Amino acid sequence: MTDDQRRRDAALRRAAHPERYEHAAKPPAPQSGATARQPATPAKPAATSPASPASASTNGRSADAPKGYRATVGPPVVPPHPSRVDLHAHSSRSDGILEPLALVQAAAAAGVQVLALADHDTVSGVRELLAPGMAPLPLNLLPAVEINSIATGMGDLWEGELHILGLGVDVSDEDFEAILAKQRQFRVARFDRIVDKLHRLGYPIGDRIDQLVAESGAKPGASLGRPQIARCLVEARFARNVDDAMQRLLARGKPAYVPREGLGPVEAISAIRAAGGLPSLAHFADAHERTDLVAELKSHGLGGLEVHYRHFDSDTVASLAQVARVLSLVQTGGSDYHGDGETYAEAHTAMYVPDEDATILYALLGRRGLKIDAGEVAT
Ligand SMILES: [Zn+2]
Ligand SMILES: [Zn+2]
Repeated sequence: MTDDQRRRDAALRRAAHPERYEHAAKPPAPQSGATARQPATPAKPAATSPASPASASTNGRSADAPKGYRATVGPPVVPPHPSRVDLHAHSSRSDGILEPLALVQAAAAAGVQVLALADHDTVSGVRELLAPGMAPLPLNLLPAVEINSIATGMGDLWEGELHILGLGVDVSDEDFEAILAKQRQFRVARFDRIVDKLHRLGYPIGDRIDQLVAESGAKPGASLGRPQIARCLVEARFARNVDDAMQRLLARGKPAYVPREGLGPVEAISAIRAAGGLPSLAHFADAHERTDLVAELKSHGLGGLEVHYRHFDSDTVASLAQVARVLSLVQTGGSDYHGDGETYAEAHTAMYVPDEDATILYALLGRRGLKIDAGEVAT
């Protein structure tokens, strides 16, 4: 069978069985010793009943609704060897759990030789790690950022957002830092509004949130996000785990959702380009169905597509690789590791990012000195 036939078959399979390609939220894993309890004051019915129109259909999603960032229904990707590259990970400078240096050490210990620290709306973790006087890092650190851009008027998209990675941005660029600082201000305002909504819904998590905000304020350039609120809900036993909190309360269409404010995708792409980075469209499982949109973003400067994303099944990876080839976009990939309920080593086993994703990217960015040791191929 030729590649073309294979692709046509894959497209037909998707058309015939759209449900197989739906966004599949991981069922909440039972947490030892913790049972989700009801709010102190009874939550309004909306808090526990389906709130979005899409949830009336199969698996909470209609066949033509966006897939979201997890397309895991098909056969999983089987890594031919442990990945030496991870171009998408988060630290505690945004909504990850590990400190930047701990993340670097965990990635290096798992065999990663090229790591892009891509915190949301901040490069403070990268700055700390590359600061004068810091010990040499055990891997190649690529400065990066992730901007969750607001994609209104672009059709039905997951969360109404497109996430743009800025790979290789200049972390000393003051104009770029000013743009990110503004993004972080919007994040704080949104964070506060979500917490207020949760209080009104009967989920009082204020004390822990105050502590979190204080901790975040103590780290210059840190940025806040919904996963931190979700973890507070879990600690207070209002949710079984982060996924449960997101699915029932915090996601778009759920009772404590608050729309984001900030950059649109074209603005985010322009800002990343101006800071010398390569903008790559992150975890967009619908790229194959929305090549029009991806092509339009390319005309505005998009340079890459996150093809080798940890939560994509092999069919999704293949379809995105095809989109990247057709549109001449650089293929990127990564773990999107945050640290909820898994170690970096555990996440790493489910990820495969080819070395070429890093070598081609480094060449394009004009960054020299990248050497990936492919000598140790695990059995
Ligand atoms: Zn993202
Ligand atoms: Zn991410």
